[in-house]
Amino acid sequence: MKKFFIQTFGCQMNVYDGQRITNMLKINGWQQIEDMRNADLIIINTCAIREKASNKVFSALGRIRDSKKPEAIFGIVGCVARESGADAFRRIPDLNFVLGPQSYHKLLEILKNPDIKLLNIDLGGLEKFDELPQMVKSDTVAYIPVQEGCNHGCTYCIVPFTRGRELSRPFDDIIRDTIHAAATGAIEICFIGQNVNGYKFENYKLSDLIIKTAKLDTIKRIRFTSSYPTEMTDDLIDLFRTEAKLLPLLHLPIQSGSSDVLTRMNRSYSLDLYIEIIDKLRVARPEIKISSDFIVGFPGETDSDFNKTMDIVKKIKYICSYSFKYSPRPRTVAALMTDQIPENVKRERLKTIDSYLNGIQREFNESCIGKTFECLCEGPDRTGKHLLFRTPYMQQCIVEKPSEKILDLVNIKITAANKSSLRGEIVKI
Ligand code: SF4
Repeated sequence: MKKFFIQTFGCQMNVYDGQRITNMLKINGWQQIEDMRNADLIIINTCAIREKASNKVFSALGRIRDSKKPEAIFGIVGCVARESGADAFRRIPDLNFVLGPQSYHKLLEILKNPDIKLLNIDLGGLEKFDELPQMVKSDTVAYIPVQEGCNHGCTYCIVPFTRGRELSRPFDDIIRDTIHAAATGAIEICFIGQNVNGYKFENYKLSDLIIKTAKLDTIKRIRFTSSYPTEMTDDLIDLFRTEAKLLPLLHLPIQSGSSDVLTRMNRSYSLDLYIEIIDKLRVARPEIKISSDFIVGFPGETDSDFNKTMDIVKKIKYICSYSFKYSPRPRTVAALMTDQIPENVKRERLKTIDSYLNGIQREFNESCIGKTFECLCEGPDRTGKHLLFRTPYMQQCIVEKPSEKILDLVNIKITAANKSSLRGEIVKI
């Protein structure tokens, strides 16, 4: 049996693409292995969101070239493939294929004819969703893409170049995938897209997908990511009030707390509008929690701008959030801005916001001690002595592995907490 190795970097969309590639190869008789040196086919599923991410890819490819089986086929898919295109072959001449995020379904072509060099970084098509075979088995959490690409054009972001303009998938195709996932093991559905709440197909919106999915008995939990503030429409906000299966956690990236910086980022919402959305969500679902992304050190960001970001962090009390130093990306407007921030200032600001966000996360985790949550099992930890669960707030919860078999969704009483995880006991029914 031919063996393949795949490594995925980056966002949930890339994780999903990696799962589809794995499924496609297994259906075509390939076996997945963890040791790249024994593989006949090596796929690196790449992310281009930050400079470091891209550079990491090419240094990894160099190492792979030097340690792989001489006859092994290897190449890249994903956003760095799209970003570098034919230049990737110049940098690593031994590469066999370079396939963009909307072309990886063409991988089978090179397996039929390994002597060719396969380059396809075309955009503008949802063809892959029709060409790829259905997932054989779903994990307890199924990631279902509803749209791809983004029209927002944030000045720092490479996604509109690597994933193209927004394309929403046909409503029935998404529901077909959701029903299939529910029938093959999914308990939680996570709708994904670069601008997931911008989903529009004919008259259908994201709220229609959630309402339809919530009617599936075996689906107990629903969430969606990543959302854009202005697309958080009242129908979607109201679903947090009416749909109990919708988890009480929303990822709503604000990026900065300074209106000046938001303008330079071309983020098309005011702080007031953003806060108004959060207030509406908290009325609809008082126990809701918000997570966000933050960029510090954006060109022109002053100390006062940064303090405004810290103010909004303190006001909203975000959990499960991600913060990054601004990283200039090719083909983006912000990379050409003259007032770039020195690295040491970026580092200082990142340290400040990270430590504050970690403090909020620890405080929230500790406030969960004594409470009982319905949690989803993710399987055993590496030791095999514990089971890992996810609370409705996506906190990881570690539980002693019980002797008897348990359901995937169980009530857990939280007994301890630290910054990054909880401990708990399964509540016997
Ligand atoms: S909304 Fe997100 S994906 Fe779209 S351009 Fe902005 S940062 Fe990039």
